Amino acid sequence: LRAKFFDVIIVGGGVIGCSIAYQLSKQGKQVLLLDRGKVGGESSQAAAGMLGVQAELDIDNPLYKLAKRSRNLFPSIAEELREITGRDILLQHNGMLKIAQTEEAAIHLKEIVKQQQSLNEEATWLTKEEVLQIEPSLSEHLVGGIHFPNESNVSAVELTTAFAEAAVHYGTRIKEYSYVENLVIKNDICKGIQTNYGEYAAEHVVLATGAWSSKWLPDPLQTNTIYPVKGEAFLVRTNPVPIKKTIFGNGCYIVPKKGGELLIGATMKSHTFNKEVSLGGISELMQKAMEILPCLSDAEVSSMWAGIRPMTSDGIPIIGPHPEIEGVTFATGHFRNGILLSPITGHLVANQLLGIEQEQLGLDVMNPNRFFRQEMVMSK
Ligand SMILES: Cc1cc2nc3c(=O)[nH]c(=O)nc-3n(C[C@H](O)[C@H](O)[C@H](O)COP(=O)(O)OP(=O)(O)OC[C@H]3O[C@@H](n4cnc5c(N)ncnc54)[C@H](O)[C@@H]3O)c2cc1C
Repeated sequence: LRAKFFDVIIVGGGVIGCSIAYQLSKQGKQVLLLDRGKVGGESSQAAAGMLGVQAELDIDNPLYKLAKRSRNLFPSIAEELREITGRDILLQHNGMLKIAQTEEAAIHLKEIVKQQQSLNEEATWLTKEEVLQIEPSLSEHLVGGIHFPNESNVSAVELTTAFAEAAVHYGTRIKEYSYVENLVIKNDICKGIQTNYGEYAAEHVVLATGAWSSKWLPDPLQTNTIYPVKGEAFLVRTNPVPIKKTIFGNGCYIVPKKGGELLIGATMKSHTFNKEVSLGGISELMQKAMEILPCLSDAEVSSMWAGIRPMTSDGIPIIGPHPEIEGVTFATGHFRNGILLSPITGHLVANQLLGIEQEQLGLDVMNPNRFFRQEMVMSK
């Protein structure tokens, strides 16, 4: 192993790895962060940046509380990151309208409002007329919608970059174009990592490798435990900007970004790492978006892209210690919500490594050992 010894090596420089690097180096740890490509070059640069707790997660989802906690961290994170890096993560508290385009969808959404209100969450059912009063450019082909006033959005690219720059400010070393091939393990204890050009030693290794994380699992768990879900999205310019709130419709959302563009996403295709933008995917999205917001037919397309989300077999991220190798921690599987969950994941992993007592916040449900227990049963 190389002479240089780090307290923590983080493999993967997406929003998750960068958030963890920031929290750890802020607490004085010597951190090395490596990425196979550019920092923030994968899923984290493809994200729409919605901080959608109520619109994305059912209230009984074990991630709900954690996601809400994470969303609440954004104002202070935005401030901190701006002070350290001068960067604006473009946080916008514009709220969200989840619209029902059919009677059936309306029944379902009204049920969600009831559940939300039973827990004193802010969510209101709006009739068609009320929706159109708030957003007059929307198509009249809607039944009603839920207004979630507390949902917000950020720029995923600025957030990831700001986390990385703030981590560097506190001493994190970043090495791009460094492919981590293997963990260096002796007697079930991790001593460091092996890259395409050499080895680095560390007391602890964090695996934040997004959709590419199955590589670190034992053979029987490699196929479906963590798998890729491709998502395509595109950005348009319109003048004037026709909506103020994020609109969440059937298989499509439209996010008004600070700066005046509209981000429209996203398709879902499982089990592929292919990042080509397909005509089928984009045209379907365009169709759905124009059904919601007809004036988009005059919009100018600025760019389109695809990214690979890290999905897990139970839909819950994998965060916590490796059950079989000492000194290794997983932080992956954030699927559609990695931007939203990045602040809390940074705190949780840093606290775990620093040995700081923390509130449970549903941590058990994310523990990697849930899969390893299954593996033992499978191999018996
Ligand atoms: C179209 C789309 C829209 C989305 N919208 C939202 C949204 O609105 N809100 C939200 O919260 N989330 C959203 N997401 C999800 C979000 O993008 C992800 O959950 C999040 O980016 C995951 O972050 P990550 O750091 O785990 O993964 P990534 O950003 O993919 O980072 C993993 C990194 O690990 C590196 N890596 C992998 N293997 C190795 C190795 N062996 N050695 C070195 N480096 C390695 C990769 O190069 C990569 O940079 C969206 C995703 C997509 C695709």
